[in-house]
Amino acid sequence: MLLENFRPQSKLVTKTTLVNQPKFPVIDAHNHLGEPFGGGWDKKPLGELLDLLDEAGITHYVDLDGGWGEDILDSHLKHFKEGAPERFQIFGGVNWSKWQTMGEAFPEWAARRLRAQKERGAQGLKIWKPLGLHVEDQNGRRVDVDDERLIPIWETAGELGLPVLIHVADPVAFFDPVDETNERWEEIGGHPDWAFTSPPFPPFMHILNGLRNLVGRHRKTMFIGAHAGCYGENLGWVGQMLDECPNYSIDISARLGELGRQPYTARKFFIQYQDRILFGSDLSPDLDAYRLYYRFLETDDEYFNYNTSEIPGQGRWYVCGLYLPDDVLKKVYSENAKKVLEL
Ligand SMILES: [Zn+2]
Repeated sequence: MLLENFRPQSKLVTKTTLVNQPKFPVIDAHNHLGEPFGGGWDKKPLGELLDLLDEAGITHYVDLDGGWGEDILDSHLKHFKEGAPERFQIFGGVNWSKWQTMGEAFPEWAARRLRAQKERGAQGLKIWKPLGLHVEDQNGRRVDVDDERLIPIWETAGELGLPVLIHVADPVAFFDPVDETNERWEEIGGHPDWAFTSPPFPPFMHILNGLRNLVGRHRKTMFIGAHAGCYGENLGWVGQMLDECPNYSIDISARLGELGRQPYTARKFFIQYQDRILFGSDLSPDLDAYRLYYRFLETDDEYFNYNTSEIPGQGRWYVCGLYLPDDVLKKVYSENAKKVLEL
């Protein structure tokens, strides 16, 4: 038998709690609606999506797929925001590829684009993972996350009151050699372009320290660290950054596997930082995925799959629920997002 065919079935006799509806209303602060991550909901009838969100108990949904061109942003604003203004926020982005042709004028131009996006209706800025890995300046040099030339972008976001949802670097194992010790070996096997083995890529901590400098330097700009602050493997480090930076929050999207395999640490973390953690799923609108999140946050169920697929995608381990107290749950489900997103 090949190791990849191994399907051990747990013989534990433990309880399974089905949580069909969350205990309190939920704001999904990190998700997508276009392609490739959002399931292409911009091409489907809006009523279908609203029914699904109602069934899942999601009152408000942040769509990070506004992109940087007027066409995509406008089409998402028209399809979702105009159709149900109280249910959606659409985030815009930065078109890094323009740096090559615009040269030194790029950062100010990108900042002006933010203003234009806000005027059209964008309510936040999504920074995708290429910053720190692939983004290059006009000389073809890799740009650090805290590069000072980009200050106009971050200051303008703060001035406009646009929260910046940023994802850099993570997960850690993508930076390790892809060998038999790599805990993401199977996942990287399915997506070889997700390996950022260092060198030639910068070390993981170089990028994370850049994030810490960036957020610490722009105190008037609200930042949300995607996926448990881009370092779900090290909640102590994430907590330190939250301590240092009052303008920083995190979302928990797509990191059930990380949080749930360290349930004691994660539970303490949620209680200590209960005012700084936002719910997000990142799995497109999916009823079963939402229910898994609710089970994880609300119950003390033990040792269950953190994915809806048979083989969990981020590694072959299982998770335990955090059974968060009601007051913490309410904050994580919606109250913290209301503050950060100014809803
Ligand atoms: Zn995402």
